[in-house]
Amino acid sequence: MKPAALRPASEIGAGVLDAKGVGRSALVIGFLAYVAVASGAWWGALKVVPAQLVLPIVHKTLPLHDHLNNVFLIFLLLPTALWIESIVVGWNASSLRQLVLAPTASMKTDLAVFILGQGHVLDVVGRLLLLGASMISGGWIHDAIQRATGVNLGPPPLPFAAQIPLYFAVYTFFDYWTHRTDHTRLFWPLHRYHHSAEQFSVVTSARQHPAPFTAVFIVNLPLAVLGAPPEVMIYVNVLVVGIGFLIHSRIESDWGFVGRWLVQSPNHHRLHHKLDMSYPTGHFAIMPLWDRLFGTWYGDHPDPKLAIGVDTPYRHGFFVPRDMLRDYAHFWMGWFGRRNDGPESDLFRKR
Ligand SMILES: [Zn+2]
Ligand SMILES: [Zn+2]
Repeated sequence: MKPAALRPASEIGAGVLDAKGVGRSALVIGFLAYVAVASGAWWGALKVVPAQLVLPIVHKTLPLHDHLNNVFLIFLLLPTALWIESIVVGWNASSLRQLVLAPTASMKTDLAVFILGQGHVLDVVGRLLLLGASMISGGWIHDAIQRATGVNLGPPPLPFAAQIPLYFAVYTFFDYWTHRTDHTRLFWPLHRYHHSAEQFSVVTSARQHPAPFTAVFIVNLPLAVLGAPPEVMIYVNVLVVGIGFLIHSRIESDWGFVGRWLVQSPNHHRLHHKLDMSYPTGHFAIMPLWDRLFGTWYGDHPDPKLAIGVDTPYRHGFFVPRDMLRDYAHFWMGWFGRRNDGPESDLFRKR
């Protein structure tokens, strides 16, 4: 082969393209292999592990297969998001590469929170566990309404596949108001922890303060009251967590029509994380329809390079309790009138 300087430019270009192509096919093949191995392990585990484990001493029966199915979903979700991102942006620009080889202080925080199990992957477990509680109490309220009024609030007579988008819309409606509440003066210090990330990486989604008072329950309880079947709620939660990973990725896209109406895009979520507070924050909703309806849609052309973060100083890094405790203290100081850490976008402020 001739040295590069002697080859025509078109040939060099083609070589570069080939290298990129090979890199991407390797990523696709690697991902398919991962899915195959994970599915194989799952299938094998279902064969080996009994469906139920009876504990005679405590008179309990553990539904082992149900637990296995949940674990499988969790082990597939994050790697899937990381792989999708690497395939779209290429290995060199991927979160995974930087997280492993050269994490910034902010990314170390993301990783530490994630590893500490306060992130979304364990959050799935947390949600599943909380869902149990919310389904019992929500189901009870649902039945009480039916007894008192004769009205059955659901589930509607729809096939399972149609219930997922329906309850996704309901879920994202409640999540929209929870998230907007997070951006009010009193709740901001705890949510600020998530917004303090200086770069996006897929696991930034996991960077949540461990005491989000407004979260999970507020969203899942109304769904249970509305009669969402438990298995629909689990799928909707898994969907939401998966979307959470993707919108914090380095994929630069507004997802076209989908990103404008149905599912928030990475570019729009970046606009939500904007550092510049001189104009109102919008884009609270996982389903953009809600931002449009409630007047917080500002981004027909969100900038994929927009600077993100907060102007409150953070120390970041692997040692996360410092910033977490500081924010927790700010939260309570706000409630007792000792601080005012509110972001510019308050609950009922519009453009
Ligand atoms: Zn936010
Ligand atoms: Zn975010």
